[in-house]
Amino acid sequence: MTTGSLSYAIDENDRLIRVDQGFYRFAEENGWADAGTSLGRSLWDYVAGQEPKNLQRILLRRVRDEIRDVELPFRCDGPGMRREMDIRIAARPGGRVVLFSARLRSERERETPQLLLDPKAPRSEETVRMCSWCDRFEVDGEWVEVEEAASRLELFNRAELPAIAHDICPDCGKLLLVA
Ligand SMILES: [Zn+2]
Repeated sequence: MTTGSLSYAIDENDRLIRVDQGFYRFAEENGWADAGTSLGRSLWDYVAGQEPKNLQRILLRRVRDEIRDVELPFRCDGPGMRREMDIRIAARPGGRVVLFSARLRSERERETPQLLLDPKAPRSEETVRMCSWCDRFEVDGEWVEVEEAASRLELFNRAELPAIAHDICPDCGKLLLVA
């Protein structure tokens, strides 16, 4: 079983000022590099892709300006695991410090590990778009689960996997903008 919850907080400059034990455990389980030196780092060092950064910045600005909190579902899959999680993003009084708490809602082992989600898998020059929020992939203009993407792209026949371009799908774009 994966770590059930983790939390972290950022200051007014979006720097990590507090992370809990769950954060470190989760980082270790998911092979996040440099988790041990997270304190003082920018939150944005951990968000890949321009569109994911843009939309999360807009969301964070609204949480701070309105001194409110939002709770959103998201996915945090690994090659062998499908994970549904919820994240609560809450502004502290004054709006400078923001607290993020994520907890695991459900976890299911995959029948076949999906190498497309493995950060260590060899990659080609080709790219495929992945939504950073729901972990779906865009194939032929449709956003589909990783198993479906691997099947449509016929990845089992390939020596190398396409590189991942981190993006936000239209469904998650709406979710983040109206939260
Ligand atoms: Zn999405």
